[in-house]
Amino acid sequence: MSKQDSELMEKIISLCKRRGFIYPSSEIYGGFAAVYDYGPYGVELEKAVKDFWWKRVVQENQNVVGLDAAIFMHPKTWEASGHVSGFADPLMECKSCHVRIRVDHALEEIGIFADEKMDLAEINKLVEENKGKIVCPNCKKIEFTEVKKFNQLVKSNLGNFTEDINENPVYLRGETCQGIYVNYKNVLDSARVRVPFGIAQIGKAFRNEITARQFIFRTREFEQMELQYFVPPNAEMDLYEELRKNRWQYYLDLGLSESKLKWHKHENLVFYAKEAYDIEYEFPFGFKELEGVHARGDYDLTQHGKFSGVDFTYTDQKNDESYIPHVIEASVGVGRTVLAVLTEAYTEEEVNGETRIVMKFTKNMAPVKVAVFPLLKNKPELVEKAKSVFESLKSKYMCEFDDNGNVGKRYRRQDEIGTPYCITVDFDTLEDDAVTVRDRDTMEQVRVKLDELQNWLSEKFSE
Ligand SMILES: [Zn+2]
Repeated sequence: MSKQDSELMEKIISLCKRRGFIYPSSEIYGGFAAVYDYGPYGVELEKAVKDFWWKRVVQENQNVVGLDAAIFMHPKTWEASGHVSGFADPLMECKSCHVRIRVDHALEEIGIFADEKMDLAEINKLVEENKGKIVCPNCKKIEFTEVKKFNQLVKSNLGNFTEDINENPVYLRGETCQGIYVNYKNVLDSARVRVPFGIAQIGKAFRNEITARQFIFRTREFEQMELQYFVPPNAEMDLYEELRKNRWQYYLDLGLSESKLKWHKHENLVFYAKEAYDIEYEFPFGFKELEGVHARGDYDLTQHGKFSGVDFTYTDQKNDESYIPHVIEASVGVGRTVLAVLTEAYTEEEVNGETRIVMKFTKNMAPVKVAVFPLLKNKPELVEKAKSVFESLKSKYMCEFDDNGNVGKRYRRQDEIGTPYCITVDFDTLEDDAVTVRDRDTMEQVRVKLDELQNWLSEKFSE
C-alpha cells in the first residue's frame, strides 16, 4: 500500500470514529481484535446498504424469495458442506514474537500465488524456497514455525452442559448459504416457486480469521448478503452470465465508479465449481474482492442429500426431466460494501484556502437526509419554528436537528456525515415563511417556501 493510500485508509477510519460511523469493539477494555461496532450513522448506512440489496435482489425479482435462517444449525450441516474437514487456512507463527501469519496472504504479498487447495507439504515447500523474503509484520524477523492448517469454524457450547467445548461442538455458522440449502425443500414446498428460482438471505456469519485486518474488510464476525439461485443443469451457464451482468450493474447503481471495479476470474477452481468470478473494488489498500459470483454445479444439494438422506431430485413436469438443481450464487459482505461506499464517498476539497471533508454519499445511502437548524440557539422564535420544520419532515426522512455552535460548524459536521441538505430557519423565515436550503455538494443556497418544501425535497430525492 503506498503512503498516500494508507493515509486515505487512516483518514476514513478516523472519520468513522470521530463522526460515529464505526467504533472498535469494547474499546473501554482496549478493543477486541477484528470486531467492530456500528455507531449512529454507521447503522443507518448499513441499513441503507441492506435495503438497497434486498430491493434489487428480492423485491424486484418475481422468482427470488427471502429467508432468515438461524445462526446455529445442526452440526451435520458443516460436515456435509466440507467445512469441518476442509475449511482451514495455512498458519505459521513468528519464532521471535509469536505473531500468527496467514501464509497464503504472506506469499501473495511477495508475489507468489498460493492456492487454497494446496496441501501443507506444497505450502511448506513454497515458504522454504522463499525464506528471507517473508518478514514478520510485527518484529521484522524471518524465522517461522512450520505451516499448519487452522480450521476457521467458530465453536460454541450451545446445548452442551459439560465442561468440554470440543465435545459435540455446535458451530456458529461460517456462511449464511448453508441455511439456504437446508431450507431449499421447505421453500419449494411452501412458496409459489419453480426451478429456476432464488433464495436470498442477509445474516451474520463467523470465522476464526487468522489475520483479520484492513478495518471492516475482514472481520471475525461479519454479515453476508447472499443469493443462491437454483437452476436446471443445462441452463446453468446462461443464467450465470445473466447473473454476472446484473451484479455488475448493481454496483454501478449503488454509486461505485466503474473505473474502481473489475472482474477477477478464479484460475484454480474447487473440483465441483463450473466457473467463479469475483467483483473487485479498489479499496485504499488496492483491488480486493467485494463479491463472489460463482457457478457451483450440483455440489451443495448433492452433499446435503448424502448426509441427510433427503432426496433433492427436482421433477420438471413441463420438460419431462428430473435432476438435482445446480446452484449459482452471488455473495457479498455488508461490511465490505459499507467500506466501498465510504471509500467512494470520501472527498477532500479546497474551499477558501481550507480543506473541506465531505462524504459524497448518493442520496440513497446518506445516513441523514436532511438537517434542520435554527440560525441562533438563544432565539426561542427561531428554535420553535425550526422544530416545527423538523417535525414536518421526520416521518418521511431521517432528519437531524442541530442548534450547537455556529452554522458554519454545523455545515462542517453535516458534510462529514454526508447529509445532502441542510435547512436553516433565520429571521427572514419569520417574515416570509421561507427557509435557506444548502446543497452538500455544490454548497449553493436557495430560498424555499415552507409550503413548497416537501415537494422540493421529494423532487430532489427522486433525481
Ligand atoms: Zn515477529
